[in-house]
Parts: sequence; C-alpha cells; structure tokens
Amino acid sequence: MITEDDLDLFGYYEIYEPKPHEKPSLYSLWVEKKIITAGQARLIENILGLVGEAGEVAEKIKKQIRDSQKVSDEDIMKELGDVVFYATALANFYGRDLSYVLEMNVHKLDDREARNKIKGEGDNR
Ligand SMILES: [Mg+2]
Repeated sequence: MITEDDLDLFGYYEIYEPKPHEKPSLYSLWVEKKIITAGQARLIENILGLVGEAGEVAEKIKKQIRDSQKVSDEDIMKELGDVVFYATALANFYGRDLSYVLEMNVHKLDDREARNKIKGEGDNR
C-alpha cells in the first residue's frame, strides 16, 4: 500500500498541490484560518458550534423522516461538513490536527474490533 510518506518521498506533493479537503493536516490548517475567536471564547464557540451542527444533522434527518420533506442527502452532507469543521477546530484548540484524531479513532476502533469489544459501554473498553 502506498502511504503519504511514500508520496512525499517520491516528490508527489512537489508536482501536485493537494487541496485542504484531500489531506486532513491541510484541512486543519485551513480551518484554523477561519477561526475568529480566541482563548476561552474560542473553546466555547467551537464546542457550541459542534453540538449545534450535530443538531442540524439530526434536524435534517428528522424532517426527512417525519415530514417527508425534500431534504436532500446533499443537505445532510453539508451539515456533516459543518460538524467536521468544528470537530477539527476543537482538535486544533488542543494542539492536534485532524490526522491525529482520525488515526487515534482508527486505532481505537480496530483494537476494539480485534478484541471483540465493539458492543458495550465505556470510553476505554
Ligand atoms: Mg450548518
């Protein structure tokens, strides 16, 4: 399997400039440029943004189900994008980028799967 390190080694990124949505670490930098609050206000704004946008995802799906409204899958994807934005902003606040969060999540869930612990409760099962 070809990794990002392999691509780096072969100079791939010197001839191809990846877009923020194509590389999580670039997306994290892109998000950081959009943040307009600082310090504690930023933390509060980012967590309220994350929860609010997650609510917007739920609201769109609710409308699809309850009202048979014309809520397109694209409308839901847009709100999911907003969730990712604020999740990334929070990761940035804590000094990590989206790549770190994704890697940690993959390891955590792969480990649970390997130990047959996908079901159940507890953050650190
Ligand atoms: Mg939104």
